[in-house]
Amino acid sequence: MLRILLSVICWAGITTITFSQAQKQMVVTVDDLPYITNKEDTLQHIYINENIVRHLVDYKVPAIGFVNESKLFVNGRLSDPEVKNIDLWASNGLELGNHTFSHFDYNQLTTQEFFDEIKRGERITKSILTNYGQRMQYFRHPFLHRGDTREKVDSLASYLKDNGYTEAPVTIDNSEYIFASAYRKADQAGDDDMKEKVAKSYLTYMVEKTRYYESISGKMFERNIPQILLIHDNLLNADYLPKLLDLFKAEGYEFISLTQALKDKAYQSEDKYVGKGGITWLHRWAITQKRPPEFYQGEPKCPEFVQEYVGISE
Ligand SMILES: [Zn+2]
Repeated sequence: MLRILLSVICWAGITTITFSQAQKQMVVTVDDLPYITNKEDTLQHIYINENIVRHLVDYKVPAIGFVNESKLFVNGRLSDPEVKNIDLWASNGLELGNHTFSHFDYNQLTTQEFFDEIKRGERITKSILTNYGQRMQYFRHPFLHRGDTREKVDSLASYLKDNGYTEAPVTIDNSEYIFASAYRKADQAGDDDMKEKVAKSYLTYMVEKTRYYESISGKMFERNIPQILLIHDNLLNADYLPKLLDLFKAEGYEFISLTQALKDKAYQSEDKYVGKGGITWLHRWAITQKRPPEFYQGEPKCPEFVQEYVGISE
């Protein structure tokens, strides 16, 4: 790993004082494969996955995609193009994880219903991974909901562990979905100016958001920790992922796998948060540590014009 080392030689003896600042690292995680919206538009789903996978490969990003297997079915039958969309990730050496069958909200389900959703959501992805010598290791909670009672949190954590899953945390959460909705709306309206305006503001926002979470984690750990970014399998990222990755690189980031990131001891931090919120792991740790409200100050917001264009409030 690259390190910036500042060394001071002490002439009085042979002591060397070394301050080391870890290289900035980021995991790119992409949720809701093989698509989020425009259910009928298979050609667009193919476009999205082909482009996102190509960009990830071109930039050598060891990303992971989280699958909702319900979207692999059309009218109750397995859809060949949708399965191919998932296969494309694994055949290009990218990882795949379980994001439940139909993206139901754990806050709305019983523990057993949610376990059934996990079980039902792993069948096809597991067999695809096996074909490429990989195995399913990771689980991503829909809406980042880990459980709204202590019992639900603990039961799910035990179920995942017993079934060979590791939970995939998120440190850089964001309102990318609002930008993506606006971008899609502009695309459908054939409004290229608006598409570009939304995309530019998305890129600026994502850098600001990353700096924000970097400062929060810096305050918490007094060093850079590997960040885990959450984005989605959508048209906006199909078109703008290279620009986004260039910006992250300009911020000093290198891209690593989820497995590598989770080796950092920051991810063993205690998380006592129980509630309905879909919040980042940084927030969970901060709440557990009883940090004051000022700790979270300065979170960047999605610009008003984007929210107004699609009628979605942050
Ligand atoms: Zn999701």
